[in-house]
Formats: sequence, structure tokens, C-alpha cells
Amino acid sequence: MNKNSINKGFRFWLAFYAGRFSVFLCRLFRLSGTSLPGAVALRICPQLLFYLASAYEKIIAVTGTNGKTTTTNLITYYLRQAGVPVIGNGEGANMITGVVTALIKDCNFFGAAQSRTVVLEVDEGSVGKILPAVKPDLIVVTNYFRDQLDRYSELDHIITLLRNTIDGLPETELLLNADDPLVVAVGRGRPAVRYYGVEVEKDCKEPEKNEIREGGFCPECGELLVYNYYHYGQLGDYRCTKCSFKRPEADFVALDVDDSDLLHFTLHVQNKNSSIDLHSQLRGFYNVYNILAASAAALIISIPEQSIEASLPDYSTATGRLEQFIYHGRLCTLALIKNPIGVNEVMKTILPQEGKKAFLIAINDLAGDGKDVSWLWDADFEKLNHPMISKVVCSGRRAAEMAVRLKYAGLATSKIVLEPGCRESLDVLGLQQVDQYYILASYTSLFNYAKLLRKMGKAVAKDADQGLPSLS
Ligand SMILES: [Zn+2]
Repeated sequence: MNKNSINKGFRFWLAFYAGRFSVFLCRLFRLSGTSLPGAVALRICPQLLFYLASAYEKIIAVTGTNGKTTTTNLITYYLRQAGVPVIGNGEGANMITGVVTALIKDCNFFGAAQSRTVVLEVDEGSVGKILPAVKPDLIVVTNYFRDQLDRYSELDHIITLLRNTIDGLPETELLLNADDPLVVAVGRGRPAVRYYGVEVEKDCKEPEKNEIREGGFCPECGELLVYNYYHYGQLGDYRCTKCSFKRPEADFVALDVDDSDLLHFTLHVQNKNSSIDLHSQLRGFYNVYNILAASAAALIISIPEQSIEASLPDYSTATGRLEQFIYHGRLCTLALIKNPIGVNEVMKTILPQEGKKAFLIAINDLAGDGKDVSWLWDADFEKLNHPMISKVVCSGRRAAEMAVRLKYAGLATSKIVLEPGCRESLDVLGLQQVDQYYILASYTSLFNYAKLLRKMGKAVAKDADQGLPSLS
């Protein structure tokens, strides 16, 4: 397609300038403005995304349940470090209105795109609207876990939606997580599929009690899958005993993973038989997948291995992906939580750290969080029933439900404080005489805490803003 030949017409320009004007108004009134301009523009021209996306040379989309934001931001970062003009919709404005807003902001006053490449985080429920319009060159799928049940009745529906969507995109290449049978099912029968995965020594890891597994059954024949090992959730080395479905061999393999503190592992590229040594400022085993997916995507679009190896150590986290602050003279770690698997992985990362701890858990139930908070009952909050945890402050619109959940988890009532207000709850946390503070917050409350902590405390890591669009 000769992309420049598209005749945009009057509706496009009306929508475009309405969107630009909304961006200006949002700035004027200090509104977040990551979705509203797109919503206004789409009302005028529903095909706007198709027109805007046609201006770019390369489009990469990232979808899945967990790790989308980190993976998207890291791909964007790699490209920028390699000198490629790139934009993305980082920070999670990942529905069609957020994508359109990001592209409108990338245009100059005359409607010409400033970047050449786009890296898009795409909400699992929005793939049917976004992907056909932007026709990505590469789609990266992270994993599928139970998430925000009010928007997606079940995982089957999301996976079918993505499969049907990519059926209409025969030229798009897929980069899939080999360790997740649900993700692998998306690519069945497609020619251009590449896989990434984490490989471990044979003796590893028995599933933990209470670990959640969604992918227990073979997507081909329905038989129960058998595992050689699990990493977490349903991620691991699996095979079906009845048919030929099994974990595909990965093209990009993480080896020798050290997740005891800051992550370090070797990325082996099978077809080139080469390896790169990856050191990251990120923590937590789940981030191995994000780094692996982003590095593999960057390699596929021809970013040199040396550039990836050299730039990763300077990449620090986006808001809430275990961002650290100093608050009342103590280290305070802020983490986003949005589903049981995420909570369990965050707790696995922070609980082994030494010293007395106090927690603040902030749960909202606005659209961005997911209105159904019943997932709190599936997360392993029993782990907070620990002698080194002296206090848990429950906050947010669903503070009371969180407190009840902790009672059922066996915490003494003397350890639970109910304080729905954002600033007030932070004040209570600051009174606790412990070694470290931890704040686990759902999406809409996360940015309020981050803002307050920046004001009252100070950020420890380098500022996360690498020129990515910000929510605040
Ligand atoms: Zn089978």
C-alpha cells in the first residue's frame, strides 16, 4: 500500500484538530489527557486510527494480561537508545482512545507524524478494534491470567478474540511466550511465529501451594497438561499426553537466571547461536519475561545485540513497577497490583527481603481498576500473616473489603488499620517504626500515591520518565 496516497478527507481533519484542541485543553486544565482527546476525535471520525497509523513505517503491538506496560516501555526504550524515532502509549492508556491520543500527540500541527516507529500496548479486550486498524508488523503476547473479570467474562473469549483478529492479519509476525500454553494456542497454524521462553535446570521448581493455574488443559484436545516444571502460574515446560501439543522450542531463550536481587540472565538467540548478557535494574522473576520479550522484539526489528546489552542496565522502572522512594527516612517500595498472579509474584519478590515491614494496600474499584474486586480472594494474602509484618493499612474505595480479606487470611485485627483516604493512609504508614514500607496499589490509586511520595519523600531510582507519555 502506498501509505502516503491515502486521501484523508474533511472528517479526518476535523477529528484531528478537535483532538489537538482537546490535548491543549487537557494541558490547560491539568487533566491527565491520555484518552480524552482520542475519544473526542473518534466520535467525529471512527476510522481515524487507520489514517493515523498509515503514516508509520513499523508498528509493534504488545498484548496479554501482565507485563504489557513494562514490555512496551522497554521496547520503546531500546529503539530510542538505538536512535530510532519512536512513540508509544506507555503508562497503560491501552484502549483505542489512548492509542489515538498518543498518535495525535505525535503529529505536528499539519498532521505529519514525527516518529517512524510505534510501539503500542494493547488492552486484551481492545485487540479487535486496534489491531485491524493499525496492521502491526509484529505482535508480542506476554501471558494470559485471570484479570478484571467484569470486563472479560473468561480467558477463552479473549484468546478467541485475538485468534480471530490475527486471522485477518496474515502478514503480521507473532512473538509468543512459549512457556504459556494459552499464548501458544494463539499461534497454532500460523507460519510466522517466533517464541521466547525461560529454561531452567531439571531440578527446578515444584508448584507452590495456592499457586493459580489457568492453562491446565490442552488447547488441542482438552486433556490435562503434564509439566516438567513450573515457573509460576501455568508458565513452564508442559506437554499433552494424548496429542502432540507441547511447549514449542524457543527462538529466544533466557538461561542462568539470577533473580536473587537485580535481575541478570543470558539471552540465547537460537538461529544465530549467539548470546547476550543482560543486567537489569528490575527485580522479580516475572520481569525476566518482560525483559526477554522486549529484547526479542528489539532483535526481530534489527536492533543490534550490542545496543540491547549496553542500554538495558540504565533502564529503570515505570511508575509502580516496584518503584522505590525514601519516605520518613525509610525505603518505601510502590507496586501495582491488579490480579492474583500479580499480587503473588510481587509478594514473592518483596517478602524475602530482610527487616520489619509495614504494608499499605490501596484498592479502588473504578473502571481502570476493574469494578469487580473478587480477585482479592484468590490472591495469596495469607503470606502477609508473618511475624516480621507489623501493620497493614487498608486504603482506597474498597479498603473495608481488603481488611475483611486480611482477617480471613489470619492477620490479627491489631495489625490491620482501615484508612480509606490516600494522604491519611500514607500518614498512618509513616508512623510505623519498621525497617521498610511497602505500598501495593490498584491502578487508579497507584498514581496518587506516586505523586504524594514524590512530593513528601524522594525517589530513589533515577526518574522513570524517559520521554514516555506520562499520566500526570
Ligand atoms: Zn492434547
